[in-house]
Amino acid sequence: MARNIQRIGVVGTGQMGRGIAQVAAQAGIHVVLMDTNIDLVRQAIATIDVDLLKLVDKGKLSGSDHEAAWARLEAADAPAALAQCEIVIEAVPESEALKREIFAAVGPHMKGILATNTSSISITRLAASTPRPHQVIGMHFMNPVPVMKLCEIIRGLATDEDTYETTLALAKKLGKTAVTSRDRPGFIVNRILIPLLNEACFALYEGLGTAADIDTGIELGLNHPMGPLTLADFIGLDTCLSIAEVLHRELGDDKYRPCPLLRQYVAAGWLGRKTGRGFYRYDAAGKKQTGWWLD
Ligand code: NAD
Repeated sequence: MARNIQRIGVVGTGQMGRGIAQVAAQAGIHVVLMDTNIDLVRQAIATIDVDLLKLVDKGKLSGSDHEAAWARLEAADAPAALAQCEIVIEAVPESEALKREIFAAVGPHMKGILATNTSSISITRLAASTPRPHQVIGMHFMNPVPVMKLCEIIRGLATDEDTYETTLALAKKLGKTAVTSRDRPGFIVNRILIPLLNEACFALYEGLGTAADIDTGIELGLNHPMGPLTLADFIGLDTCLSIAEVLHRELGDDKYRPCPLLRQYVAAGWLGRKTGRGFYRYDAAGKKQTGWWLD
């Protein structure tokens, strides 16, 4: 039987972790946030507050609901603070070794579900690295979490029914529509999205068109709300590359090989919107800069 989650932990307070924490707090759930240091967590809570205030300004959230949501956000500086959480969702960078480390550090301090927001890494393998694989599950939110309706739920081979049903119920409580994917590289969404983004990188690499022309072609030609290079910048080029590498390595087909240009941008630290430069340039507020001098 699905349990009604009242308290969650979020480890990693970057763009995804912040979004997950925000929607959970708005849904009446107490959220304990953790990162590599407490200052990053406090910054994240301040950013969530700004995002909540924007909703108040737009009339989408009342002042009292804002106050209540904000009061549900708790900063933690050690895994022991997650002890009472019924589920911990990790949203640290897309590295299997790092995610294993997080589960190893957090797992002994709490009894609940260990969920991962991974975009592509095997849930079964992550689960096998813990002493309780039946309580490990994938909960793959889309970016930005407060806006995007979907949450992909991924069962590892050993994930039990209670973990699955409780996680599905949590996704619903957060206002998401859940789809369930088998535990295969990239799951459903990234198995289809990442080859598209990678192909757009190849198109740019081969000089098929400018970044703007490639994006406009796909926006207007295929009716996509955002061009693939803009979307890659938005996701983070490091994240896109990590997922492409997982697809290439684990599906063993060269059609998934990451574009050399994508590798080069990541090597340069041009990770997209979050670092101010990727296929496009961004100002401090994350707004895309345009002008011939930037081409
Ligand atoms: P991000 O770089 O914005 O944030 C990662 C956060 O993790 C940072 O705050 C970082 O300080 C923190 N962190 C790093 N090491 C840590 C540690 N040892 N302990 C605690 N915190 C640590 O990354 P993101 O875009 O939020 O992605 C996070 C996860 O979500 C990845 O697995 C990614 O694949 C997945 N994801 C990303 C998107 C997207 O569009 N960006 C969409 C769905 C899923």
